[in-house]
Amino acid sequence: MTFSDDELDRYARHIVLPQLGGVGQQRLKAARVAVVGAGGIGSAAIPALAGAGVGQLTIVDGDTVDLSNLQRQPLFRTADIGRSKAELGAAFVEQRNPHVVVRAIAEQIDPANAEELLAGHDLILDGTDNFATRLLVSDCAVKLGIPLLSAAAQQFQGQVALFRAKPCYRCFVGDAFDADDCDSCAELGVLGALTGTVGNFAALIAIRAIVGIEPDAAGTLHLFDAARLAWRPMRLTADPACRSCG
Ligand SMILES: [Zn+2]
Repeated sequence: MTFSDDELDRYARHIVLPQLGGVGQQRLKAARVAVVGAGGIGSAAIPALAGAGVGQLTIVDGDTVDLSNLQRQPLFRTADIGRSKAELGAAFVEQRNPHVVVRAIAEQIDPANAEELLAGHDLILDGTDNFATRLLVSDCAVKLGIPLLSAAAQQFQGQVALFRAKPCYRCFVGDAFDADDCDSCAELGVLGALTGTVGNFAALIAIRAIVGIEPDAAGTLHLFDAARLAWRPMRLTADPACRSCG
């Protein structure tokens, strides 16, 4: 895999990094990442991954832009209200980096289509806003053997974790939330810039994971408290009785 002059200039600040270099940039170009959810977290993660030169991006989101999304979703403009988030996200990526092959899936992910939509990716970044979808995406990631980067934000709290099969997201949250499909942001609120902080942090972990920068982030939950302005890492343990990875 070689780089054009445009790519060499575009990624110059990456290639010069000893931890990344030309080899790391090639790994980014070879990577296929699915982003589930083009909301607040996706709005930060998608531009970061596209800019970094991830070769293939799939954006899965069945929603359209609502006026109340604009407080925290900088991928979208006021004029975009009513339009497909996945398609707007893909159009943004094409403008941001023409070297990225981007695919928009303007469908809600559900048990019937999840496996087919997620298969063939090297990493899944989940930025959806409810437990039911997050558990579905996690179960699917475990089944397909694809690493999952799960990111969430609510009120003043954010959390990001990379899961490689075991422990999985279900080990962490348990089985109680499979039926919980409420929109937690709508109910409880979320600080606008927090979703961007969390989404960008998730993109950072994604880039590290794709390049292979040590230490591997898997198995640690990163909690961000926007009230105290502090990140806190928390070690996750596998549940031997987990019905997904156990
Ligand atoms: Zn598990």
